[in-house]
Amino acid sequence: MIQHMQNFPLRVSEIIDYAALQHPDRKIFGRSIEGPIIETNWRDIQKDAKKFAAALIDLGVIKGDVVGVMAWNTPRQLSVWYGIPGAGAVNHTLNPRLFADQLVYIINHAEDRFLMVDFDLLPIIEDIIDQLTTVEKIIVMTDRSHMPDSKINDLLCYEELIADQPDDFNWITGDENEACGICYTSGTTGDPKGVVYTHRSNTLHALSAVAPDMLDVSSNDRIMPVVPLFHANGWSIAYAAPMVGASMVMPGRDMTPVGLFEMLELGVTFTAAVPTIWMQMLQHLDDNNLRLPTLERVIIGGASCPRSVIDKFQTKYGVQVLHAWGMTEMSPLGTVCSFKPEVMALDHEGRLDVQGTVGHAPFMINLKITDDAGNDLPWDGESQGRLLTKGAAVVQRYHKSDTDAVDADGWFDTGDVATINTNGYVRITDRSKDVIKSGGEWISSIELENCAVGHPLVAEAAAIGIPHPKWDERPILVIVAAGQKPDVAEIMALMVNKFAKWQLPDDIIFMDEIPHTATGKISKLLLRQKLADQGYELPP
Ligand code: ADP
Repeated sequence: MIQHMQNFPLRVSEIIDYAALQHPDRKIFGRSIEGPIIETNWRDIQKDAKKFAAALIDLGVIKGDVVGVMAWNTPRQLSVWYGIPGAGAVNHTLNPRLFADQLVYIINHAEDRFLMVDFDLLPIIEDIIDQLTTVEKIIVMTDRSHMPDSKINDLLCYEELIADQPDDFNWITGDENEACGICYTSGTTGDPKGVVYTHRSNTLHALSAVAPDMLDVSSNDRIMPVVPLFHANGWSIAYAAPMVGASMVMPGRDMTPVGLFEMLELGVTFTAAVPTIWMQMLQHLDDNNLRLPTLERVIIGGASCPRSVIDKFQTKYGVQVLHAWGMTEMSPLGTVCSFKPEVMALDHEGRLDVQGTVGHAPFMINLKITDDAGNDLPWDGESQGRLLTKGAAVVQRYHKSDTDAVDADGWFDTGDVATINTNGYVRITDRSKDVIKSGGEWISSIELENCAVGHPLVAEAAAIGIPHPKWDERPILVIVAAGQKPDVAEIMALMVNKFAKWQLPDDIIFMDEIPHTATGKISKLLLRQKLADQGYELPP
């Protein structure tokens, strides 16, 4: 049968066009890199995006060219986010916290033709410019008066570049499967790997992200992404917000609790960040007797969120926590802990227990857990296995790789270890390389860490396996104290109630600082190295 429905390519330009048409005056606030808090709206964001796309075409950009962007979350970054794919080019998000070698590697590997950079981040580019093999021009994202002095001669000024461009540029069109963005994994275990998102995958992912059982956002929300847009596709928020016509607050580069609180006070209803940001924020609120009158929901992911953080947000500050899991390879959302009716029916403690899981998957994300031999494991909440996924916005193959990243049946191994219960709620117990294997059993490093962080004087905790002649590995806990040093016996007492004896750490040691990756997660690799350098040995 011949069908006659329209072939409507799912391109991200449609998202910003929708916001500009249906929600033109919806406010966008932002802390500019130049200093002041500015105000704009979707109409003007779209106009600037069109001007910038026109400027890129004038610079000679052709379809498929890669433009690297190293920038904080600002309104200007939103225009760039849509200007690049609107010109048919590919938006390559660059994390300024990566090591110089990694930046050189990913910029050369992705073959960035142009680099966009916030002026305060220019020194990072200056240090590596001599090693960049494909970059032709650098565009500094500011106006003429803030252009920095630089050893790079022919810098372009963003505001000058777009000033005289038409704001009615016709977006470059094409197939929905064309590349739209590229984001590299942080590469803690080797060279970073590039995930190339398409217009279609980003659109479908955002559509599923805004749904009520996922982020549940609408035009009545004011959304603040604290998570930088350069981290894991910006958690899709720069697509999800305009797709529903939400208002936004862009916090700029000030990630201190004081700076973020000032932005929250602009009427933010929904915000997103990794747990460490919220631990500092809660401390700040407590210390200064502050309230969060407009904030309704916060999505926390990227690393496991301790129960104490969830409980405090909800009980003391009246903010609903959505614990979420995902990864760069999944665009990035995989699961969100919203409440199905079975969970709604539980009491306070029962729901909190469920919130220790990362929730359930939406439509278009298939999940399964398997044992080491690849056999499917039951969804009984007990069986732990490798977590595999398949979906419309999941990677098929890393950039420039010769082989697929999925198995013969199309499943991608997330590298995480999990249980799934009868309701479909997923509990991440570890990354497969971090799980502690003791006497043939697996001990969850995440659960040990979350328990330790429940002690008020523990700022951060990392559990790792130390090689052991008899048991293969034994767990130890490394702790960073929150000011005053906590009593080891008290931490142990917390653990004894929750874990079997053989799961308890053999040792608890203190460090001033635990090493982190460029995305702010604990780097177990560097931590193991640090302990080896110190000649650490398990107690007899
Ligand atoms: P990177 O690997 O570059 O740090 P990703 O965001 O891609 O950045 O990392 C994804 C990984 O982060 C997941 O595979 C998982 O191990 C971890 N992760 C993300 N969210 C959670 C969560 N809520 N609980 C536990 N681990 C999480």
